Amino acid sequence: MPSPARIHRPTPRNLARLAGVLQRGGLVALPTETVYGLAADALDAAACGKIFRAKGRPATDPLIVHVLTLAQADEVGELNPAARKLAAAFWPGPLTLVLPKREIVPAMVTAGLGSVAVRMPKHPLFRKMLRLAGRPLAAPSANPFGYISPTTAAHVKAGLGRRIGHILDGGPCRIGVESTVLDLRVPEHPVLLRPGAVSRAALAAALGRPVRLAPAGTTGEAERTTGLPGPGMLARHYSPRTPLTLTEKIAAGRAAAAPEEAFLFFRRPKTRAAAEAKNVFWLTATGSLEEAARNLFDRLRHLDGGAWHAIRAERVPGRGALAPALNDRLARAAARKG
Ligand code: AMP
Ligand code: MG
Repeated sequence: MPSPARIHRPTPRNLARLAGVLQRGGLVALPTETVYGLAADALDAAACGKIFRAKGRPATDPLIVHVLTLAQADEVGELNPAARKLAAAFWPGPLTLVLPKREIVPAMVTAGLGSVAVRMPKHPLFRKMLRLAGRPLAAPSANPFGYISPTTAAHVKAGLGRRIGHILDGGPCRIGVESTVLDLRVPEHPVLLRPGAVSRAALAAALGRPVRLAPAGTTGEAERTTGLPGPGMLARHYSPRTPLTLTEKIAAGRAAAAPEEAFLFFRRPKTRAAAEAKNVFWLTATGSLEEAARNLFDRLRHLDGGAWHAIRAERVPGRGALAPALNDRLARAAARKG
């Protein structure tokens, strides 16, 4: 067991040292523009094994491989023309492509699947670490399996502080929800496995064909449409320990009648009395989906750390790219474990 995690400031010296940790097969939690990731050398099976152990992640849940360049992406997965189109439109950025896997990627990384999930992240610190480490980095979210994803170094420390040695602090994540995951194994049948900041409509426009939705939490649709064995199961929940219920719009007056419950509104309630109640919280003051996404996981963690009997959240309105992503994460947070 490593000594408790140290949070490192991103000085040139620290970056070089942490790249050395990665090159020697160690783990480092790194900021990305989506959430913090727990990184290891993606081509080193033993190093990636440590990710699964630190997170308590089942070996059946594959990891996303992060790359610096298109050439590096092509070394781990087969970039078909559709993938190249999307890479040109959205990389570097919050889009993960599931592609046929190349031999070089250890089976452990892909949970034995014939496909690999590849992303070129945009965060300058993550990119610097990719450059210094000189290899692709496998990095799932840096949280114990099943819990809420981390968007600050402090979140990582709270969850994995006794299981990993190093956290690079890049401040709060700019986007705040995990990447969009698109199954592109069969380019004629793109299937959205996880909604994120790159919307389904934007993907369809760039590809010039419709993008199907995988039924929540399953990949059955992918199997039917592609005729290939299903890719990895999506994690069913990113849940707080406090039971969370997701409903349509909550009436502002509702919170006063249930003081032992926490109410998570999308937008700050309009009346001062409602907004000032101790059990009233919100994702955004202004109605911005971007602000709501940046705040979501921090709010859920904060509420989970309180003494609330239950959390009641309302669905996010609106049609921006982030509305389906936020509602997906809230629905997962509401899913019962087990
Ligand atoms: P995380 O890195 O924790 O955000 O989770 C990565 C997610 O990406 C997994 O839970 C899968 O849903 C998805 N994923 C990774 N690799 C594959 C793959 N080969 N096929 C399908 N989905 C994948
Ligand atoms: Mg995760």
